[in-house]
Amino acid sequence: MNDETQNLIWEWTGYNEVQSRTQTRQSPDSDQVEVAIRAIGICGTDLHIMSGHAEFGKPPLPLGHELAGVVVRIGNAVTRWRIGDRVCIDPLIGCGTCEACLSGNKHRCPDAGEIGLHFPGGWQQYMLVPQLNLYRLPDSVSFEEASQAETLHCCLGGIDKLEIRLGMDATVIGDGPTGLYYVQLLKTAGAGRVTLIGKRASRLELGRLLGADETVNLSPSFSNDIPAMESQDIVIDAAGTEASLQMGIELLKRGSQLLLFGLPGAPISVDIQTVVMKELKLLGTTNAPHVWPRVLKMMATGNVKVKPLITHHFRFEQLVEAVEFACNQSDEIIKIIVHNDPIEEAKP
Ligand SMILES: [Zn+2]
Ligand SMILES: [Zn+2]
Repeated sequence: MNDETQNLIWEWTGYNEVQSRTQTRQSPDSDQVEVAIRAIGICGTDLHIMSGHAEFGKPPLPLGHELAGVVVRIGNAVTRWRIGDRVCIDPLIGCGTCEACLSGNKHRCPDAGEIGLHFPGGWQQYMLVPQLNLYRLPDSVSFEEASQAETLHCCLGGIDKLEIRLGMDATVIGDGPTGLYYVQLLKTAGAGRVTLIGKRASRLELGRLLGADETVNLSPSFSNDIPAMESQDIVIDAAGTEASLQMGIELLKRGSQLLLFGLPGAPISVDIQTVVMKELKLLGTTNAPHVWPRVLKMMATGNVKVKPLITHHFRFEQLVEAVEFACNQSDEIIKIIVHNDPIEEAKP
């Protein structure tokens, strides 16, 4: 599309349905920045919203919350951004005035919502974003990598909640992108032996490449041993099922820590008897607004690798195909990125 006044957007319009349309570009409000979206990560949450599983916004709504791009216009009260700045987007918007927001915990704000979940997201060529929701990209971080800062920031926030000592034994249950990030973060944080438990051979293999000392494939055709009961100092449940939670409780030593990150989507039963008797610490975790700057530094230094998780690429015009492909949930997919700039991503 060459008409610079128009914005091409993809909207979730109803049960598992996405349609495109064009809209006249709006001018940014005084404290808003217009970002030309360059890279969009397709996330499981997008698919959940589209199939009506989750209590998020109502259609029609452009989704997309894993976003990076370039500043193209700024509102007249914007001081911290200039046209051409490369940025990623923190999708979380709080009220800004409640106790949670004022203490730096906008994710606990009762009125908080997220770009791409509750508010219009980044399935657009151009989108307007509050200036406080942007972070500047280090030169060495590509747009596609930066789109994953959102996922990674949730994981780093979880790691921050744990008490990790050098050499502790840790297990991550769940071999999705977050499980693969948790493996890397645990190693960087000084954990000793890190075990990754999952069901897909290719992801477990990648987990080893990214630092897991041990992997366990739970699919029926494999029969490798899970860690011994009561052997782990830390378990991170990135799967969020009744079975993964029970496994975590069993694997942990007495007095140790269980980080709860995966979402079951419905109430599940928990073996509280064992939790109490083993004096386990159960820690829930979601977003962590304060860790964004560190996430970008860790990407720049290579402490956390994102590129190996990116398995598939689509053009922005093919967004509906990218979403359909994601819905197939084939084993080879880890992360799908939708690009709106072929030139930048061609860089090494
Ligand atoms: Zn996501
Ligand atoms: Zn608030």
